[in-house]
Amino acid sequence: VVDSSLVLDWLRRVSTAMHQHQHHLIDLDSAIGDGDHGFNMARGFAAVRVTLDAPSQRPASPGTALMAAGTTLVSVVGGAAGPLYGGAFRTWGAALGTATEVSTLRFAAGLTAALATMQRLGAAVPGDKTMIDACSPAVGAFRDAAESGAGLPPAARAAARAAETGMLATIPLQARKGRAAYLGLRSIGHQDPGATSACYVFRALAEAAE
Ligand code: ADP
Ligand code: MG
Ligand code: MG
Repeated sequence: VVDSSLVLDWLRRVSTAMHQHQHHLIDLDSAIGDGDHGFNMARGFAAVRVTLDAPSQRPASPGTALMAAGTTLVSVVGGAAGPLYGGAFRTWGAALGTATEVSTLRFAAGLTAALATMQRLGAAVPGDKTMIDACSPAVGAFRDAAESGAGLPPAARAAARAAETGMLATIPLQARKGRAAYLGLRSIGHQDPGATSACYVFRALAEAAE
């Protein structure tokens, strides 16, 4: 099962990872974008941490925690990734409602809905060299594991592995969405920054679930 303390632990880990890897994300985005992805993610998830750790509004359920995180990301992060992550977290939170504990299967259903929001907002499909290339296989792996009865730790581990594979698979792709698409063929040979930050999100979930 998933409770609010797990979600809070996970999002704190995401915040730490975005801070630690900020310069790597900046380097990746400098190669095929405008160089701000590391800053956007570090700033956004630092704000998420502040929101969630405020004693007055500590979320009592996974759904309210995800909703608050998403709202914060949408309002704080400029750039493409903020609304995409924020919208996805908000959908995920809404799907979970206010239950204080949710099953891994229900968590997976919310995650599936979150991916659908991300794809609807960004109109990207797998292969476009975006965060979807990490998120889509990760969500599929998580859902497959959950549906076959796996608990949260193995499902999250499977998702993290799939995200990493998807992230690496963006390197030879030509970008068809986002700023990198303007580079055309010159986007080939570079790892997508958003797929990389998505990988950190799933890695942090696997760590929090252990
Ligand atoms: P910006 O490009 O506005 O500066 P960021 O640098 O924060 O925003 O985020 C860039 C990342 O956002 C890209 O690496 C890509 O993964 C993701 N991205 C951009 N456009 C889209 C889209 N339409 N759908 C999905 N992901 C996208
Ligand atoms: Mg950028
Ligand atoms: Mg930008």
